[in-house]
Amino acid sequence: MTPRKMHAAVVTAFGKPLELQEWDVPTPGPGQILVKTEACGVCHTDLHAANGDWPLKPTPPFIPGHEAIGIVVAMGSGVTVVKEGDRVGVPWLYSACGHCEYCLSAWETDCPTAEFGGYTKNGGFAEYVLADPNYVALIPKGLGAKEVAPLICAGITTYKGIKETQARPGEWIAISGCGGLGHLAIQYAKAMGLLVVGVDIDQGKLDHATRLGADLVIDARSPDAVETLLKETGGGCHGVLITAPSLPAFQQGVAMTRRHGIAVLNGLPPGAFPLDIFDLVAKCVTVRGSFVGTRKDMAECLDFAARGKVHADIELQPLSAINSVFERLERGDVPSRVVLDFGPAGQ
Ligand code: NAD
Ligand code: ZN
Ligand code: ZN
Repeated sequence: MTPRKMHAAVVTAFGKPLELQEWDVPTPGPGQILVKTEACGVCHTDLHAANGDWPLKPTPPFIPGHEAIGIVVAMGSGVTVVKEGDRVGVPWLYSACGHCEYCLSAWETDCPTAEFGGYTKNGGFAEYVLADPNYVALIPKGLGAKEVAPLICAGITTYKGIKETQARPGEWIAISGCGGLGHLAIQYAKAMGLLVVGVDIDQGKLDHATRLGADLVIDARSPDAVETLLKETGGGCHGVLITAPSLPAFQQGVAMTRRHGIAVLNGLPPGAFPLDIFDLVAKCVTVRGSFVGTRKDMAECLDFAARGKVHADIELQPLSAINSVFERLERGDVPSRVVLDFGPAGQ
């Protein structure tokens, strides 16, 4: 039986530590499902959300978390696409309208009325979370809740971002930022047959990039970082994926892009960065944003994991540790991904 109360980590004010509170377990309304959380990854986006970093802000009090994996334990009326007992992921793209030009052209992530998990809707830093069954990730059998959690944001975002660079097998891709997103990006890129440069400001992250198969690593802090990359890759990377939550990485990443190459922006530090017009025009470089991924991207990115091509490196922590996890994430002190462990859904 579902209890009436649940523990949740709550943003009560921007920039303040999260509060551990007891909330009523929500009741699924028509077309909704209730998911008992088994695990939820901690994304740097959760930190931006809790700090109120972006122009479009969530409204406190709210529960962050958009890498929640759990078991469907209750359903409102009219739900047919999942059933009780199914393991699902409750992602950033919580729901979309299904009817606008973006939804109709498989760009549902750009739907103007999309809702976002752990942002405009309460998310997975709680023992239970409500979800829209039409937008949950269906977790392939054989994948455990904890190891799959990072894939439903960090995995899908980088999988999609790499596709958006249009880099082809045998070509070079740079992954700037080898943390939560980046350590998965390296693995997806290798599985797609690309030559990979890992770029980071932390030697531990660079060493890990090498262990994950990066063909070359570059310390972004080196004054010769761009020059070295251009030399080693014979003129720059065909694709550059910038995942770093840091402004200097953006100008540097664009400078690492080969003529006619595409730099894709995933990282979301608040602010702006300068683009050299002459360089962009003369080298025909494209700079574009990329925002999580669609349900089709989700199924594809999970399939890579189900086939053993991609493994998230996780550190388990209890929900009560969330504030120290946030502090470490801010300092760049999380090796890959922290996953909050809620124990088996049966408990
Ligand atoms: P993370 O903290 O786990 O990893 C960030 C990595 O960037 C770290 O390894 C850090 O050492 C490295 N880094 C910092 N400054 C750098 C620099 N100047 N050059 C190179 N590397 C640098 O964070 P994460 O969870 O991977 O998230 C990264 C960013 O991506 C955040 O801004 C987050 O909001 C954003 N994000 C965007 C989307 C999207 O849909 N576009 C989805 C998820 C996350
Ligand atoms: Zn995320
Ligand atoms: Zn829409």
